[in-house]
Amino acid sequence: PGIGGRRKFVIPTKDKAGGGSGGGQPGNFHPGKSVMQHMLNGKDDKKDGDIDIVLDERYKNLDPRMVELIENEIMERQLNVTWDDIAGLDFAKKTIQEIIIWPMLRPDIFTGLRAPPRGVLFFGPPGTGKTLLGKAISAQTNSTFMSISASTLTSKWVGEGEKMVRTMFAVAAIHQPTVIFIDEIDSLLCSRNENDMESSRRIKTEFLVQLDGANTFAGENAKILIIGATNRPDDLDEAVKRRLIKRLYIPLPNKAGRRQFIHRLIEHETQSNNPHHIDLSDKDVDFLVELTKGYSGADLKSLSAEAAMIPLRQIDDIQNVSIDNIRPLNIEDFQIALNNVKATVNKDDLQKFLDWNNKFGSFP
Ligand code: ADP
Repeated sequence: PGIGGRRKFVIPTKDKAGGGSGGGQPGNFHPGKSVMQHMLNGKDDKKDGDIDIVLDERYKNLDPRMVELIENEIMERQLNVTWDDIAGLDFAKKTIQEIIIWPMLRPDIFTGLRAPPRGVLFFGPPGTGKTLLGKAISAQTNSTFMSISASTLTSKWVGEGEKMVRTMFAVAAIHQPTVIFIDEIDSLLCSRNENDMESSRRIKTEFLVQLDGANTFAGENAKILIIGATNRPDDLDEAVKRRLIKRLYIPLPNKAGRRQFIHRLIEHETQSNNPHHIDLSDKDVDFLVELTKGYSGADLKSLSAEAAMIPLRQIDDIQNVSIDNIRPLNIEDFQIALNNVKATVNKDDLQKFLDWNNKFGSFP
């Protein structure tokens, strides 16, 4: 079963994750293997550097070059992002638990009325943890994680974007359960200029087809979750908005979120090689939480990295300094860093997100 036509092609140079050729029946997917390895399953009598391959029915319509690219550049394996790595966002986490994690873990219970959405939207300012949430979902549900920016689809894959989308969903189905994270989903849908129009329109149509689960490689029941992310919800196309029924606002961290971020940072740095890395009292933390109002998670990260450079700048001979002689970070370092690293999200934008959330967002 599952033996398709014979084709010849030059074997790709990279041999991933051992395995090699042979072993396994075509048609049985082994999670540890790449689709490429499955494509190469079967006969491999080498002649002139070429390989004869027997393609599984499921793979034979896919372009091997594109599959390879997707597996190398879009797919990520072995993510270990946990909920604890994500500061704040309690509402989003709780909602995600109910509408995404539980259904993925117990598909038998979540049917009919409880059927999970195929796609969700994360919207909010940049650097607030939308991608992190996607990764955490993937890690918690033991899913494959695929991440692509929609602007890449339209720019880098000119003329091939549509095929790319189709292949991506096919690969996702083979590796299911899969979380497909599509960043800047707004840009998929509006073309930048006249020349792009036709190709963008086709990408969009293909995407909508895939989002509906019709005509897809694995059919409607494929365990594929699509997460669209955007900082520009106003630009979202109606057709897409309609399909991403659950729309979660991923806001800037509030006080509690910022506090969690800082505590986690201290904890993390203490576990790393230099045990005296950060020296902040509870009062310092309170102070820092106040000073960083309006900072996103990504801003907090940049701020901390900037602060971490300050003790080093005071050392004359970095090349020979003993690690024990590097002083821990203190609140003054953070205060100095605050002059250089400002919050990147402005108040007007925040109001726009709130308005959009009131109109289109999902609430408990
Ligand atoms: P987004 O997808 O919303 O633009 P990311 O999830 O890519 O943002 O976040 C970028 C980086 O900023 C993360 O890798 C992380 O270091 C930090 N970050 C952002 N939000 C959070 C958060 N809520 N908790 C912890 N770190 C965060």
